[in-house]
This record gives sequence, C-alpha cells and structure tokens, in this order.
Amino acid sequence: MSKVNTVLGTIPAEELGLVAIHEHIGYGMPGSELDTTWWKTPEQRYEETVPKLRAFHENGGGTFVDATGICNGRDVDYYKSLSAKTGVHIVACTGFVGGDTALPHFANAPVEYLAAQFIHEITVGIGATGAKAGVIKVGVSRGGRMTELDKRIYRAAARAAVQTGVPILTHLAIDAEPAIAIFREEGLPLDRVLFGHVDDGVNAEKTQDTWIVEQGGRLGFDTFGYETELPDPPFWARPRNKRLEHFLRFVQGGHADQVLASADANCSPLGWPGVKGHTVNYIFEQLIPDLRKAGVDEETITKIFVESPADFLSIKN
Ligand SMILES: [Zn+2]
Repeated sequence: MSKVNTVLGTIPAEELGLVAIHEHIGYGMPGSELDTTWWKTPEQRYEETVPKLRAFHENGGGTFVDATGICNGRDVDYYKSLSAKTGVHIVACTGFVGGDTALPHFANAPVEYLAAQFIHEITVGIGATGAKAGVIKVGVSRGGRMTELDKRIYRAAARAAVQTGVPILTHLAIDAEPAIAIFREEGLPLDRVLFGHVDDGVNAEKTQDTWIVEQGGRLGFDTFGYETELPDPPFWARPRNKRLEHFLRFVQGGHADQVLASADANCSPLGWPGVKGHTVNYIFEQLIPDLRKAGVDEETITKIFVESPADFLSIKN
C-alpha cells in the first residue's frame, strides 16, 4: 500500500482525504525569529492558527502540506501539536524555498551534503522531533533565473527524491529548462515534481506551463485567493477570473491529471503581517464553488484535490 509521511507518522495515502498541497502554518524570512518586535506568544499563535485548521477540517479538509522549508520558520513540534489538536494531517517538508533563503551553513555545502541532509529528514526525522519529511521543497531565487546554488539544491533534491521516493515541490516554475535538465540527469521521473506558483500574478506570463506538462511535469496552481480584489492585495496578486481561466484551460484542456491546486496561505505569518482575508479555506469558500459553476464535474474535483495529491505524495520506491 502507498504510504505518506506526516508529522504524526507514516499513513496510508488513502487516509489523506482532501489535500491542500501548498500551504504554510507560518512562513518568515531567515532571521525573522530574532526580531523581537514580531514575537508572538504560543497562545497567540494557537489562537490565530487552530480556528483555521478546525474550519479546514469541518469543511472536509484532510491534509495540509506545509511548504515551509529549512530556515523559513519550520517548527515541527508545533505542527505535531496542531495536528493532534485539530485532526488535520500535516505533511512537513525538507529542502529550501529558494537558494536565497538558505543560510550560509547550507548555501556553502556541496550537493552530497545537501542530499544527505534531505534524506536524513525523510528517512530518520527532522532534528529531534522524530517526524519525517513527506516532500522536498526547492525554488528559484529572486531574479527570475536559477542561480548556481538553486541548481545545487535541485540536484540534491532530485537525488533524495530518487533514493527515498518522496516527491519535489518547487517555488516558482520560471526558468524550468535547467530544472528539468537536472531532474532528467538524476533519473527522476517528472511526475514526481510539482512545478509550483504557475498561476501567480508576477510569474504566470513568464512560465512555460504548456511545455512543462508536455514534458510530464505537474503544474501547481497554488496561489489561489491572492486576488487584486482583496482590500490590500500583495504584489503577486492576480485578478480572480484570470487565474480561474488559466486553471480551467488545463483542467478542461486534457491535463486534469497533471494539475494540483492550493491557496499558499499563512495561518500565522512570521515577521510580516501576512495578507488579510486570505486563508487555506479559500479552497472551500471560493475555489471549489467556482469550479462547479464553471461546469467542472465532481469526479474531476475529486481527482484534483484527493486522488492526484495522494498519488503525488505517495512514497514511490
Ligand atoms: Zn508557499
């Protein structure tokens, strides 16, 4: 049977239920934990986070994938307590959001060291938490082109994915050619990679989304809800109908098997105010109703939120 690593243990993929594939309990830039003006008490963090996860659960959500990498505020003991409290499965990741958020200890390390680090977190556990990572995060640094460090991290991630069977989730899908070349060189099938943020307002036009699916990769429409319609939209916002049309082009154009969707929301952001009015529950409040309105059938909705994520997250080796 296919298995998936969650922070409370390895479970059958059939138990994941509806999956939010790219979310954050709390994301911050490296060092934000040292900024005392942003410190929150544990009570405040729970107060901001637990109701969102409880609502997710009540709406029918089963699994929350936390895409916060090493150095960006990942806090696995906290995730374990949230999962136990709310009944939501939480999948934690190893890896880095991008080379530019890796601290020097990792930024200066060779591929072999980084691969060993990722493999340890997947097969032994993250630090002393005993929790195993269920997915590997990689990403493109600011600037729109993969840096030498980004490439080193992608290669280490590919090796860890081949060895452990855990999939890769990318931050940004721009400059995909060198990424795909690295995955091919390392022998990683491209259906083990979710190319994320193909839908965000800054990068959607620059992303070779059609080419990526033709190569066999999966596309992450995972910034749903960051809309220009919000009262104070972030710079990566996009008009709601534009993002939906973009998604439907793939869902209704023969690629429903290769797309995943999520909201990339922060339950309780670290060191920044976050985006007001946006939570993981956008999936239930807006996205699924919008898909139904557009004529997407229940079978396809189940494929996008239940079956494809279970297949993607399953440990394949
Ligand atoms: Zn994210």
